[in-house]
Amino acid sequence: MIIYLIACGTSAIEDGWNKNGLNTIKDGYVSAYSIDTDQGLVLIDAGGTKEAKSIESSLQDQGKSINDVLHIFLTHAHTDHVAGLPVFSNAQTYAMSEEHDRIEEEQELEVLHTLEDGLTIDLGDIQILPLFVPGHTPGNAVYLINEILVMGDTAMATDKGEIKPSPSFFNEDQEMSEQAIADLYERIVDEALDVSWIVFSHSGPIEGTDALERYRP
Ligand SMILES: [Zn+2]
Repeated sequence: MIIYLIACGTSAIEDGWNKNGLNTIKDGYVSAYSIDTDQGLVLIDAGGTKEAKSIESSLQDQGKSINDVLHIFLTHAHTDHVAGLPVFSNAQTYAMSEEHDRIEEEQELEVLHTLEDGLTIDLGDIQILPLFVPGHTPGNAVYLINEILVMGDTAMATDKGEIKPSPSFFNEDQEMSEQAIADLYERIVDEALDVSWIVFSHSGPIEGTDALERYRP
């Protein structure tokens, strides 16, 4: 049921897809992302399984181990994005201030750092810009890293290269979520943010922002 809802008309996750240092790690039907910085390895989300085996094996392919992960930025509180968190015992965890308490209470996980919308985190040579894009969950985050917009479950790519909302079954506020995608495009234009690629948790990537511009709630 869950896999059908996600997969229907959706482009496939491309395991190992890598641009501007950001690497895709497919973990079943969800993906996490890794990027190396001079302040340690960073993950965006922590996978959907408690063992995080897919992430561990991807890191091994990169000559790294789970102990090298020092920072984990969570997009939101859903289990398929946070389940692997306890495996990464050296990592500090970050989430939007609006999502922080929920992750700690529902998932019984510690989140050390709270993020505020639009306030960049500098990790040595890499900057991570958190954007508050609510609807999928009340504190849902999108991250802009090295010109790649990491959408999490904010939206998905179709097999025709368009952008669509996540299935309503998963969105906690469907109307808000659909509008937030359009608002995100307006913000990218207004703030002149450089976006070369858009990546998602449950689909393949999309180049550029044309599909986001075409999207209508
Ligand atoms: Zn979700």
